[in-house]
Amino acid sequence: MRYFDTIIVGQGFAGTALAWQLEFAGRQSYLVIDREPPVTASRIAAGLITPITGQRLVKTEHYEERFREAEAFYRRVEDELSEGPPTRRSRSAPPTTSPSGGDEKSGADNEASSNTNRTHLPPGGGGRSNEVRAGGGGSLRVFHRRPMLRLFQNEREQQIFEAKQHAEFAGLVEEHPHIDPAEIAAPLGGFTMTTAGQLDAQAYLNRSRSWFAYRNSYEAAELDVETDLLICDDGIRIPKLDLRANRVIFCQGFLNQPNLYFAEVPFQAAQGDILTLRIPGFHEHRVIHRGIWLAPAGDDLYRCGSTYSWEPFDGLPSAAARAELERKLKEFLKLPYEVIDHRAAVRPIIRESRPRLAMHPRHPRLGFFNGLGSKGALLAPHFAAMIVRHVFNGTSLG
Ligand SMILES: Cc1cc2nc3c(=O)[nH]c(=O)nc-3n(C[C@H](O)[C@H](O)[C@H](O)COP(=O)(O)OP(=O)(O)OC[C@H]3O[C@@H](n4cnc5c(N)ncnc54)[C@H](O)[C@@H]3O)c2cc1C
Repeated sequence: MRYFDTIIVGQGFAGTALAWQLEFAGRQSYLVIDREPPVTASRIAAGLITPITGQRLVKTEHYEERFREAEAFYRRVEDELSEGPPTRRSRSAPPTTSPSGGDEKSGADNEASSNTNRTHLPPGGGGRSNEVRAGGGGSLRVFHRRPMLRLFQNEREQQIFEAKQHAEFAGLVEEHPHIDPAEIAAPLGGFTMTTAGQLDAQAYLNRSRSWFAYRNSYEAAELDVETDLLICDDGIRIPKLDLRANRVIFCQGFLNQPNLYFAEVPFQAAQGDILTLRIPGFHEHRVIHRGIWLAPAGDDLYRCGSTYSWEPFDGLPSAAARAELERKLKEFLKLPYEVIDHRAAVRPIIRESRPRLAMHPRHPRLGFFNGLGSKGALLAPHFAAMIVRHVFNGTSLG
């Protein structure tokens, strides 16, 4: 039976960030499990990291600090992905066939440990065509600093901006952006959000998955939380996968059937639709926000999103959502476009729109990391680090 200190259920933004933070902490073995559905919230997300959102121009709490943390985290991930996994497993504990003897000890290297993913390619090879290697130096970029253009929809937004620009928004915005009137209708103007970015979600998730798999730390599997987990005195067993672990952290995103152990968590999820558009002749490199957003996706492709709807949570693209996006798009985009893809998924929002980290009160080997809401790319690194500090140092999760 294979043993890991931590099993992470779910390889979305939450589970991926948690696995990397455990890797960076370097003292424990971990295994990420995912059932690999074709569409998940993380896989369709545009990965935008935006300081100021909504009609009332609300600045995200602790934005500057979270942005710094996220950028540093993704740069470190990029470094790891660019180098490929270490051939000598010197930093983190590998999977072992026996417990490593507690949280503070790492297991011995064990090349003989079983693995079902040996067919995965090493992370340095393959990959999607729009992954960027910067500067010819061979480093992979999954996170991009990207200025964002916010267009005013009405005078009220202008007034709010004027009131906040030199205080709350200082260092985050610039006035009087260049706007090409042949391409974009913006009679009231707008402002630039300078400290902003975009995570290439597909590249980040795919490359991370390959990296974890190459390190024997990833497995494609569906876990039935109700029947597959055995909580024992000496750890958690998952007989169906021949696994044993010190703890299991659920990073499952939104579920129609709540996780049995954390069933009381008050989800207030929101389904969202995203379009992929071809806009020939449009050369905008900024993300444009005006009720919706329009983000460059390489060549003449752009992604346009996103809607919020509260039922049903079926993850199916809706005609009404597409109509809403196109109506709002036409309010500022002057060029013709073609819709070439339409997807939907459910954002895991928890009441009060804050991520939720918890260990189960009666089964402290079971943990929960969820509720990244609409800001998974920004928040996942910070909150994953918090869990790791809790695991190693016993610091609070609250
Ligand atoms: C339309 C839309 C646009 C968005 N745009 C942005 C954006 O621009 N910027 C941003 O930061 N955020 C955006 N988000 C929000 C972002 O997608 C979420 O914050 C984030 O994806 C949540 O990540 P997660 O890991 O919690 O959940 P998920 O992405 O849902 O991942 C959960 C994973 O757990 C796996 N899983 C669940 N149960 C099991 C099981 N029993 N066994 C095995 N595997 C299991 C699933 O397969 C899945 O891969 C958007 C969301 C939507 C819907």
